Amino acid sequence: MAIVIDGYPNEIQALLFDMDGVLWKEETPIGDLAAFFSALRARHLLYGFITNNGSKSILTYQKKLMDFGVPCDLKFILNSGEATAFLLEQRFPDGGPVYIVGESGLIDTLAAHGFMHSDDPNTLVLAVVVGLDRAFNYEKIRRAADYIRSGIPFYGTNGDKTLPYPNGEVPGAGCMLAAIEAASGVTPLIAGKPEPLLFEMMLSRMGVAAQNALVIGDRLETDILGGIHAGCPTLLVLSGISTLPSIDQMDIHPSLVLQDIHELLGYLHGK
Ligand SMILES: [Mg+2]
Repeated sequence: MAIVIDGYPNEIQALLFDMDGVLWKEETPIGDLAAFFSALRARHLLYGFITNNGSKSILTYQKKLMDFGVPCDLKFILNSGEATAFLLEQRFPDGGPVYIVGESGLIDTLAAHGFMHSDDPNTLVLAVVVGLDRAFNYEKIRRAADYIRSGIPFYGTNGDKTLPYPNGEVPGAGCMLAAIEAASGVTPLIAGKPEPLLFEMMLSRMGVAAQNALVIGDRLETDILGGIHAGCPTLLVLSGISTLPSIDQMDIHPSLVLQDIHELLGYLHGK
């Protein structure tokens, strides 16, 4: 079955979802996720999940999705840690030691691609990789900045300054990156949204063209801008970070704006 969205010229064959603020806030799901994704499967739509949060592995996300009744093949789940690993592999195809400021999900993801975290100050690392780290401290800023000032490349998983929580926002990876950028004087290379890389990786795995995939997110400057950069139509949901007035303030314009993903079903029509 082909699907069209009112007012959008191309058929939608795939939906690329952000997760935090779109599907859930922490452990609280936004509506009946099992029923929603069951409706997508009934319409033969492909779906995938793309998050800037690299602190948890894609296996962790697959389990969380399953716990909410949403089955998904692991190859259709991507986080910014996977995108960072892709960038590292392009530059250092043989792998090697890296200095990681991040949590176990990022450390495990990079290790699976041949980039082991080294905490030994005498090891010559290939790169510094920085993501969300809830045990961030002065010593980590100092170590990372020392490496970066000596000319070692500086990668950031994602630039999100905050993450949505059930009752507000908490600091995100962008805060760690800002501190290390200030200490080193070097701007990081960012792997996650709004760079188009994560979307391009997913579209290639799905075999779907950009104009036939709807990017769905709650944050204009990452999800929506990233979708625009990738050449996809975009849907902003107001269940997370961005608000209606911020569209004009930021001058980032999604193709569609809805309260939450559940409203989307009313906008999909079989052709
Ligand atoms: Mg989000």
